[in-house]
Amino acid sequence: MKQVSVEQFLKLDAAGMAGTQVMVDGQQLTIPIPIIHVGAGVLRHVPGIAEAALGHAPEHAVIIFDEAIRRFVTENVWQPLGAAGMELAEFPLAADDPAHHLVASDAVGDAGAQALPAEVDFIIGAGSGVIGDLTKWIANKRGIPFVIVGTAASMNGHASITAAMSFGDIKETAYDLKIAEAVIYDTEILAKAPLVMNLSGFSDMLARNTCNADWKLSSLVRGVEGFVSLPYDMMTRTQDLSFKHAAQIAEGDPAAVAALGEACLISGMTMTILGGQTSPSSGVEHIISHFWDLLGDIHGKDHFWHGTQVGVGVLMGLALYEMIEELDPHTIDPAKLLDNRRSWNEIETYLKTTYPGQWEYFLKTARDKTIPDADYPAYVQGILDNWYPMWTALKPYRIPFKLVQHGMKAAGAATSLAEVHQTRETALQALLDGNFYRPRYTILDLAWELGIFPDRAEEVLERAEVL
Ligand SMILES: [Zn+2]
Repeated sequence: MKQVSVEQFLKLDAAGMAGTQVMVDGQQLTIPIPIIHVGAGVLRHVPGIAEAALGHAPEHAVIIFDEAIRRFVTENVWQPLGAAGMELAEFPLAADDPAHHLVASDAVGDAGAQALPAEVDFIIGAGSGVIGDLTKWIANKRGIPFVIVGTAASMNGHASITAAMSFGDIKETAYDLKIAEAVIYDTEILAKAPLVMNLSGFSDMLARNTCNADWKLSSLVRGVEGFVSLPYDMMTRTQDLSFKHAAQIAEGDPAAVAALGEACLISGMTMTILGGQTSPSSGVEHIISHFWDLLGDIHGKDHFWHGTQVGVGVLMGLALYEMIEELDPHTIDPAKLLDNRRSWNEIETYLKTTYPGQWEYFLKTARDKTIPDADYPAYVQGILDNWYPMWTALKPYRIPFKLVQHGMKAAGAATSLAEVHQTRETALQALLDGNFYRPRYTILDLAWELGIFPDRAEEVLERAEVL
């Protein structure tokens, strides 16, 4: 591990950040992934990395990929590595039904770990987010060293040390997994990925603009500990660069693809540097996206691109932030809010009828984070008394809605509900019921606490210009 100062660290690119440690507020933070390569032709480093990890050339290396992109992986990863002298056996993973996408679930991961032949000594996971997460899961279960080769810059998971796994229909974060020997982003491969996937990655990294504000907000109003600004600051340079090259992503311009790849990797590293904590890259926007996935599961509808949904969620989240910031704290009456508060009976009945499969989990989540009626007026008064200092403290952790929307439009990323196959109804449902999805406190909770929800939810959609 190379020790660097915060100033030095923030000037590094993704490759430079790999294997470094930095002291922040007396805490030693580290990026334990030892090697990251971004650039044209960097796939060539894989055989050397495998040899260094094992102390000899691998004898039984496998390549894990999604059967649905067999041809892409064969042409762009498998054959080039074969030509470089690396013999790889195939280990494709397939969705249960060709009409569905492969999902990263504990069931799929466990089955893969069991089926992987005993002699395998090295794994190359070649794919996007799902394959990255399944590779981490399988390699961890079996204790086999692995490398991740990204085939699209479609989300921020490749350089994260955790995996976003579905356990039943709820997405959870799997921690303490084996760390990749390296993450490889060959821009010649990434440029060939479907544009819709690269734009999904562009939108996913924009989560930074709402989730860090949520994290800071939770520290201010709920006293959640551990907030650090480093993850937000890590993304400043790379986000600016991605915006600058946004219009060239569609052409597969090498500089634009490299900037995007960097942004996705560094976004993942914002979690990695905190031991896998997801707060610096998952807030209200991810809740909205996960909620749409859940509604899809309930209604038998396929999931849409994760990052693309997140991008629309960022716009909704930023609109909500700006709407609440404009409130005049003197017009809010805590006693009146208490009178209008939903009763637990009302909530329970609503959850039972609307979410028969999830209502118990949702109710527990709500109970765990809701301020009891007896404490509620004083709690709200505390927020109102601290109103302007609170917004001053939040200000450094998001950029204006218009700037984000402008960058997304320049890239050609989805900025409307229709483009992510959602409707006014499902958007309202995600806004109004998203607070049940996770224990984490976000701007959605504040909107309920201040009486913005349910009445003004529709206005959020109008301000977000997603309708
Ligand atoms: Zn994401």
